Amino acid sequence: MSDPILPGAMLGVLGSGQLGRMFALAARRLGYRVAVFAPDDDSPTSQVADLAVQAPYDDLDAIERFAEAVDVVTFEFENVPSATVEAAARHAPVRPTGRLLHASQDRLREKAALTSLGLPVAPHAPIIGDDDLATARDVVSMPAVLKTAAFGYDGKGQRRVDAFDALEAAWEDLGRNRAVLEQFVDFTAEVSVVGARGPDGSVALFEPFLNHHANHILDVTVVPAPVGEATVRDAHRIARAVLEGFDVVGVLCVEMFLLADGGLVVNEIAPRTHNSGHVTIDAHVTSQFEQQVRAVCGLPLGAVDRVAPAAAMANLLGDVWADGGAQWGAALSDPGVRLHLYGKRDARPGRKMGHLSVLDRDPATAEQRARAARDAAAGR
Ligand code: AMP
Repeated sequence: MSDPILPGAMLGVLGSGQLGRMFALAARRLGYRVAVFAPDDDSPTSQVADLAVQAPYDDLDAIERFAEAVDVVTFEFENVPSATVEAAARHAPVRPTGRLLHASQDRLREKAALTSLGLPVAPHAPIIGDDDLATARDVVSMPAVLKTAAFGYDGKGQRRVDAFDALEAAWEDLGRNRAVLEQFVDFTAEVSVVGARGPDGSVALFEPFLNHHANHILDVTVVPAPVGEATVRDAHRIARAVLEGFDVVGVLCVEMFLLADGGLVVNEIAPRTHNSGHVTIDAHVTSQFEQQVRAVCGLPLGAVDRVAPAAAMANLLGDVWADGGAQWGAALSDPGVRLHLYGKRDARPGRKMGHLSVLDRDPATAEQRARAARDAAAGR
């Protein structure tokens, strides 16, 4: 096993959004320096990094120079091209490796990988050519969701399909791109598990988070999730299987559907820290971002215990700014509310601008206070 990368070293992150920003803040608190590589300027991560390189991901010379200047490369954005990861890996360890990235960049590859690990996924069929429109009937029943295989997130590139007659039109609508038809899962809740694995194979798993979505975008996360011990064990078994199956060094998130009988179906994997894990910054001994630093540097993983009986996190989308700007004074009139803003200039509707979190005695009160603070911020 390689030696740990100790504080003082330079950590490289590909991607410059809020996940990179919160990674950089955690790294700097631990005494590391941070370099960020991304095409954008004045990005959430570059504002807090020691060094920002602005270049396209396919500029392989720039990526090689970047990797030469850092001690390890990690990422916060999963759609980094394979060639970029390979070029970086010639000069510094890339954690996690490109293998996980490659699988999670394509829903068909991801489903195949999960199935080969023996993990439960919804019945699904590839839609790649015209013939698949007919054969999908053999495996999937309606209603279903048609999703483009590549570059889909937060419900983008998805159409609900209620009958096979409507499948071709939905596929047409998605540009006849490689897609997967997924049977609709009649879930009672959505949960996620964020986990970390170090170079020595040590694993640390956060408790399952309960996630509420609005318009296919994560809206509110609440802990503890209302699930029994058997479901927690099952969720952890699944997350561990993915971490070990892909030989991950770093952090990932497994999003799952909870069924009425307590069973779980894997929806998708994020090969990085996750929006639902933002709750860990305030609610857990070690945040998901510090855990990413520790994992990719080969330091011992931190404790994942919750520091309060319950907590909630509410996302702040650009919509909060819609009616005359955000009212931070009103949002913070509850002194227990913790505000996190990502330094983005343009508050467009649907854009993730920040989040706020609250610790409380029980999950329902925590959730109610987080939602109330967000309403106050929006002037409602
Ligand atoms: P995804 O981009 O795959 O994470 O999907 C975004 C959201 O769409 C999920 O969080 C679910 O709320 C919903 N969704 C996606 N796939 C399914 C499915 N097979 N059955 C029911 N709801 C789904």
